[in-house]
Amino acid sequence: MAGIASVIKLREAGIDDVTVFEKADEVGGTWRENTYPGIACDVPSHLYSYSFAPNPDWSHTFSPGPEIQEYFRGVARREGVYERTRFGEEVTALEWADGRWTLATGTGFRDTYDVVIAATGVLHHPNLPDLPGLDTFAGAAFHSARWDHTVALEGRRVGVIGTGSSAVQITGALVDRVGHLDLFQRTPQWIMPVDNTPYDEAQREAFRTDPALMRQARDGLSRAFADHFANAVIDADSPAMALIEEACRAHLETVAADPVLREKLRPDYRAACKRLIASDNFYDAIQRPNASLVTEAIERIEPAGVRTADGELHELDVLVLATGFRVDRFLRPTEVRGRDGIRLDDVWKDRPSAHLALAVPGFPNLFLLNGPNGPVGNFSLIDVAELQLGYTIQLLDLLWAGAESVEPTPEAAEAFEQARVEATKGTVWVTGCRSWYLDDRGIPAAWPWSIDHFREVMQAPDLSQYRVAGAEVGAGA
Ligand code: NAP
Repeated sequence: MAGIASVIKLREAGIDDVTVFEKADEVGGTWRENTYPGIACDVPSHLYSYSFAPNPDWSHTFSPGPEIQEYFRGVARREGVYERTRFGEEVTALEWADGRWTLATGTGFRDTYDVVIAATGVLHHPNLPDLPGLDTFAGAAFHSARWDHTVALEGRRVGVIGTGSSAVQITGALVDRVGHLDLFQRTPQWIMPVDNTPYDEAQREAFRTDPALMRQARDGLSRAFADHFANAVIDADSPAMALIEEACRAHLETVAADPVLREKLRPDYRAACKRLIASDNFYDAIQRPNASLVTEAIERIEPAGVRTADGELHELDVLVLATGFRVDRFLRPTEVRGRDGIRLDDVWKDRPSAHLALAVPGFPNLFLLNGPNGPVGNFSLIDVAELQLGYTIQLLDLLWAGAESVEPTPEAAEAFEQARVEATKGTVWVTGCRSWYLDDRGIPAAWPWSIDHFREVMQAPDLSQYRVAGAEVGAGA
């Protein structure tokens, strides 16, 4: 998503000498990798679209994953991204020397570039659970982001480990196909009810004939998302947060027939403390006669299934690991060496960080889209990437004006990080739950301010925060 946007935005800014490196054989990132049944985006489709490529044909408010992947492929095709992309080229090393980046890939390709933009995503490397006996399972076992479509599901006994967004979508989609579904829940989740009414042909035709309608829809959704969700999560005591909590609590009450099940599904922490889940079918699915919610801890995996702490063996044919992602990777495992040979892995030894979630001191002319500590769970990552690109291109203007390099000063990065950590204290993410937002210190690795503030900051770089080398440009030169 961010790589495609980079090509287009850079070209708009007059920068056409751009090469995209893609380790896979297709564009699409998350939407190429995640093909599990039920996959959709819980950001409304007219908001989860590039601002410069509205799509009148979205089928639903929250359109399914394959449609989103087709959208990205279509934009990439129309905008000439494929022609600029070297597929099957995993970037293995980046080294800053003599004012340029030398980039090397796994195929032996090497070349030098003035600037590198890392559009490598956030939730990419699967988190495989460390469950004893996992490799002894006799059936098929795979991670949700590595769905094995050759495995038959119809009428079979399927186990799903996890209750995050992926597991919830998988459960809703699988329950009617499989013989029996066991959902292994370590922690219950609050579920926000959503209305996913399809757009009808008349609405799509209206969007086609009047693009202004689409812009209005996008702007309206953007405003609503910012005010009702993004502002709520950063202020745990806000009225907006109270409304979300109320909606989730009322939604849980719809599990009425089986009070024991309802209580098993009830979290003991606040809504949106973990990444809030949106679903219109999960509670219905988990109440089906062929579904079981297993809340006993998993003791081990055996050839025949999952053994829980109460001694019960849950016999299974298929085991789905919807266990999330390693969220601290970003552009790793690429070996990145910056100024004076410093390794990004060493700088990020404790945890990843970046000035404004975008750039790292000591790593000139390197920009991370949706990098560490950005608005990862608050907003549409497409908007975030577009805003970051607009900001980055202004920094690149310094290079085209004669500077050799630009990077944040350590002081600016440190000041940003301190302010960020301080601001996380009022967020809902620290109200008492375990989640992937929290770093090893229990501090949310996320943007703790409003989206409006993010927009403001991204309007124009404050050059006093940057070291601009090789030219008399800006206050930091
Ligand atoms: P996730 O939210 O990290 O959830 C992982 C689940 O696996 C959790 O329920 C976790 O339990 C459980 N788990 C992990 N290790 C386990 C173990 N060893 N034993 C038992 N349970 C274990 O992962 P995800 O569902 O793939 O979602 C990741 C993120 O991707 C989401 O938060 C969201 O940002 C994004 N996403 C978005 C959409 C969308 O519609 N836009 C869809 C899917 C994913 P605990 O809760 O106890 O840790």
